[in-house]
Amino acid sequence: MSGCVKCGLPKTYQNIRFDENHVCNYCRFFEEHRKELTDFGALEEQFAQEVRAAKEKAAQNGAKYDCITGLSGGKDGAYITYELQHKYGMRVLTYTLDNGFGTDFGRRNIEILLEKLDVEHIWINVKDSTLRQFYSASMKLMKNFCSVCFHFCHYYSHLLASQYGIPLIVNGRTRSQVLQSADNKKGIEPFEVSRSLKSFEYQMFGKLTDKLDGYSCIDFLPDVEATSLSFFMYHDVGEEEKMQFLEEKIGWIRPKGSVPHPECWAHPMAEKCSLVKHGYPVRTGELAELVREGALTLEEAVREREADREAYQDIPPEIEARFHERVSSKK
Ligand SMILES: [Zn+2]
Repeated sequence: MSGCVKCGLPKTYQNIRFDENHVCNYCRFFEEHRKELTDFGALEEQFAQEVRAAKEKAAQNGAKYDCITGLSGGKDGAYITYELQHKYGMRVLTYTLDNGFGTDFGRRNIEILLEKLDVEHIWINVKDSTLRQFYSASMKLMKNFCSVCFHFCHYYSHLLASQYGIPLIVNGRTRSQVLQSADNKKGIEPFEVSRSLKSFEYQMFGKLTDKLDGYSCIDFLPDVEATSLSFFMYHDVGEEEKMQFLEEKIGWIRPKGSVPHPECWAHPMAEKCSLVKHGYPVRTGELAELVREGALTLEEAVREREADREAYQDIPPEIEARFHERVSSKK
């Protein structure tokens, strides 16, 4: 047996277990809850209820905005901002973490979005030495650096929410990102919705969150209450559909080719870290989830995964050098 017979996840995938039929724990969880996870009528209503509650709360707070959402320059944040404004009639504040990994593709699309949707936007610049310290420590301890960007993005979304009295944070995690390591309901939307930074970080990092809570450099903003919703857990929108929609509505520019995360120039480095640490590419869990959802066949998912492995086996030395220059602590 080389992996799960249903979704193709390899035997080496994190915390994987198999039943007697060689079906993995993630497939079993999805099958058990398929009805709740794919009833988009009910899911959209759950989202709409949270939106109504947020609007009321924002009015009580005298807030200028009903919700906040992050823009990386990719399609997810752009799509969400459009829908929050047009479908849900919300007053949206947007922000972008300037982590030094942005690309021209991403910046161009942020400019287009801000002009077409006429929303307010805040650039966030974390102190350079702090970012370097976090990236270096994360590389050393976890052989990974994306988690640092996640942490700061969500830290600042909660901080801004608190400063502006905004009750709702909407994020662009895809369904496959949320469900890729779900084998029970804890910390998984729509079963559990986060109302604080710490519970949101638990959704992403699991038990590691408790360990991180012990470090004095990590602040979970314990007094800040804000609801976080992953838009795509409640709305059925395909990746191609998002891009066509954005091209048509705001003149969004599609990336050349089908490279994952074109808004981050260091993505090849993230892939290399994943291959070294786990032995499989970044999208492995997400591709398996797309098989469960019926968006890809098992063969297509395995083919894409192996294409990623091939593409990132050897990454350009200039990207690696530029990455180390960006994350290393200056003496
Ligand atoms: Zn499986």
